[in-house]
Parts: sequence; structure tokens; C-alpha cells
Amino acid sequence: CGVFGIWGHEKAAELTYYGLHSMQHRGQEGAGVVVSDGNQLKAHKGLGLVNDVFKNADFSALSGNVAVGHVRYSTQGGKVLENVQPLLFRSQTESIALAHNGNIMNAYKLRGELEEEGSILQTSSDTEVLAHLIKRSGNKITEETIAKALNQVVGAYAYLILKENKMFVALDPTGIRPLSIGRLGEAYVVASETCAFDQIGATFEREVLPGELITISKEGMTSTRFAMREQRKMCAMEYVYLSRPDSDVNHVNVHASRKNMGKELAKESNVSADIVVGVPDSSISAAIGYAEESGLPYEMGIIKNRYVGRTFIQPSQELREQGVKLKLSPVRSIIEGQRVIMIDDSIVRGTTSKRIVQMLKDAGAKEVHVRIASPSIKNPCYYGIDMSTRDELIAANHTLEEISEIIGADSIAYLSEEGLEKAILKDKTIHQGICTACMTGKYPVKEEGAKEIAYTS
Ligand code: 5GP
Ligand code: SF4
Ligand code: MG
Repeated sequence: CGVFGIWGHEKAAELTYYGLHSMQHRGQEGAGVVVSDGNQLKAHKGLGLVNDVFKNADFSALSGNVAVGHVRYSTQGGKVLENVQPLLFRSQTESIALAHNGNIMNAYKLRGELEEEGSILQTSSDTEVLAHLIKRSGNKITEETIAKALNQVVGAYAYLILKENKMFVALDPTGIRPLSIGRLGEAYVVASETCAFDQIGATFEREVLPGELITISKEGMTSTRFAMREQRKMCAMEYVYLSRPDSDVNHVNVHASRKNMGKELAKESNVSADIVVGVPDSSISAAIGYAEESGLPYEMGIIKNRYVGRTFIQPSQELREQGVKLKLSPVRSIIEGQRVIMIDDSIVRGTTSKRIVQMLKDAGAKEVHVRIASPSIKNPCYYGIDMSTRDELIAANHTLEEISEIIGADSIAYLSEEGLEKAILKDKTIHQGICTACMTGKYPVKEEGAKEIAYTS
């Protein structure tokens, strides 16, 4: 998911639309905005792409200088309007809107407790749980009640919380999900990815720190800490796959890190071949890095139809396979008779790699060597990225040789854990660190009884 917030701009709702549009890749299931004019919160949201949701939006009815927005990505049930964020809860005293990126690992348990105490929850989203926890922590929505609520949730979260006259911004104590602050003139801007700042002409100010709770009001911006800051564990998949190449995630440019991944991969497992081809779009940077390091030419051997959405989002295996076919085409004149190194950013189920190897062979490739610019994914993610369950992860259930055989490659190699770290991290300090749990099994945050995919948001 992606979150966006803006404080102190007369075109708050429109700028939120542009910001969300630049983060469309973070979620295609639904989008929404909640705007405040200081007295009242108003929402506009819907299922589908940002453009579809806002096509008929009446921005004059969404007047106000403050707004929070959300793009939703989730494959677990719940493709229903009431789960589209920001969630808005009205009350006679104060209303509250929440936008969340991440996953609350103990949401199920907390829901049970809340229901036992008589709460009735409207959605199946874990975000609603936090709203109830805040209300239960005291009568008012304040830094204190929010901090108290945050200390009860376990997991990965980047939260934007809005009431009529205040905006709160919070990041989990290990900082697994990205969240940055920018400025647009006098206005404050908050976004999951810095590409949203560039989109609206805002400048990056700083990262939200792990365990930090920021309050923005007409008095300006203040910061407290609701939890002890721990070693930062930024999701490595943000670099590998999820974020846009022009975004800086925790001060590291995504394109640059991917290029480094390709370089490290070439150092670790180069192979004799004629050309290097990347799978568009997310693997192009890594393929360029691989080509540069190996001295082999980078070629545009695969073309992407830009009007097909991300294949991964589609529900069934059959549809996914169809999607891959629709989306990518080989350039025969480049591929024919060549020994090809095919770079992809990651393998989850193996669907993409298998189809592309086949496609390249059908286009006349003499050999196809698959090189993956990240370590193999063997474990589920509990922190808000839907990797599917362990059963579906090809690397959790097969050896390297078996995977090579299944996808029909002449050889296959993944980037090592050390290679990935080297590619992303300039230096290891408390502020710099990555989560690699889905690849290495080293989970930075644990919760007894958490479901493989609980409630993603
Ligand atoms: P597979 O086809 O092996 O199931 O998935 C891997 C491919 O899906 C890669 O090409 C990657 O770019 C793309 N992909 C789409 N969404 C995701 C995601 O959420 N995580 C990962 N690791 N890859 C994804
Ligand atoms: Fe990211 Fe993987 Fe960690 Fe999940 S487990 S937060 S996808 S690195
Ligand atoms: Mg891909």
C-alpha cells in the first residue's frame, strides 16, 4: 500500500490525487482521500485505480487545507469498498481518519479482545483495530492516546491519522515500511515514497524515524517517540521490487541499489553468454548493472505492453499466466541465435521466469541463463507484502536444480544475502539496515500465532 498526506495547502485533495497517482504501483485495488477543512472530515474513495476513483471526484466539494490518502494493495479476501482507506470514523466529539501501510500481526487477537468488550468492527482490515484502540485509550484523540494504542500493536506500520485539526504520523519501532516528510512551500507533505514529492514539486525533508510519532497542526510540526528506536530494518523488497526507481528509500536511490544488485550478481555468478536482457520494468536497472559489470551488451530483448496491470495482483494461477502472456513480448531479431542472460528481480511462484524462458526459447534463443537479482524467497512476509503462503513459494519447496528444471533454464543463480546487503547499504549503522526475512528467515519482529498472511494493508 501507499500513504500520502498534506498539511497546509488549499489544494490538499488535488495534490493528494497526484501523489497517489505517482504511487499507483503500490496498490491497484482501491484508493481514497479524506480531507479536513478544520471543522469536518470528508471522504472520497472507491475500488480500482486512482484515475478511475477520482475521475468523477468533485474537488470543490473536497475543500480543505489538509488531506490524507491511500492506495490499497491486498489479495486477502476483502476486496470490498469498506476496506478501502483512509478509513473514516465519525463521532459527535471528534472524527478520525486512518491510512495505513503495513500489517498488524496481532490484529486477530486484538479484534477478539475488542469484540469481547463490546466493540463492533465494520471492516476486516487491521487498520480499524487501531482506531478502536485509540478510542479505548482515552476519550480524546491525542498524542498520548495514539502512543498508548501503538504500543499495543505488533508488526510493521506506517500510519497517517487525521482528525479535524491535527495530523499524526507514526512509524513502527523497526521502521520496516518507508515513510518520508517533505515540504511544499509552507505545507508539510508525507508519503510512502519520495517519487510523490517529485510529482507535486515538493522537496524531501527527512525520513520519519522508527518509533517516532509526529504531530502536525497549525502550531507547526512536533515530534515525540512512542517506542525506543531500534536498528532500522527497511524492507529489502522495497529496493528489489516494490518501489519506483526514482524514489529514495531511507536515503538510498532505488535504481542505484538495483543496479548494484545486478553488478554483485555478475561478480558472483557470471556465465559465458552474448547478451543481457532484463524483464521490464522492475528488472531493467539490475540488468543494466549486470551488463556493465560483465562487459556484455545490454539488449532490449523483451518489450512490455504498458497497458496491462501488474500480473502478480491477479487472483488465480491461470489468470496470472494469461497476464504474463499479455504483458510481455520478445524481440525476435535481438534474441534469435543468442545465448541470453535473463535478469529478473525476484522469483515468487516461478510463473514469470518460466514463461519468459519459454518465450525467449520460442523466439530462437540458443541458451537462457536465469539470474535473479535477490536471494531466493523461502519464507512468508508478515509485514504487509503479500508474498503468498509458504506452499506457493517455489524456493521453499524445491532445490536450485529443480527450479532450473521447472522453469526450463540452462542455468540459474540467485544473488547472495551478502550481495544484497552490499548493494543496498552504504554503511551499517543503527539508521541503516534491512529486513530480509522472506529470504533469510531472520524476522526482525515476531509475534506468537501470527498468520502467514493475516490482514494485509
Ligand atoms: P512469480 O512470477 O515468480 O510468482 O513472481 C515474481 C515476479 O513477479 C517478478 O518478476 C516480480 O517483478 C513480480 N512481482 C510482482 N509483485 C511482486 C511482489 O509483491 N513481490 C515480489 N517479490 N515480486 C513481485
Ligand atoms: Fe520485506 Fe521480505 Fe521483510 Fe516482508 S519479509 S518486510 S517482503 S524483506
Ligand atoms: Mg518483474
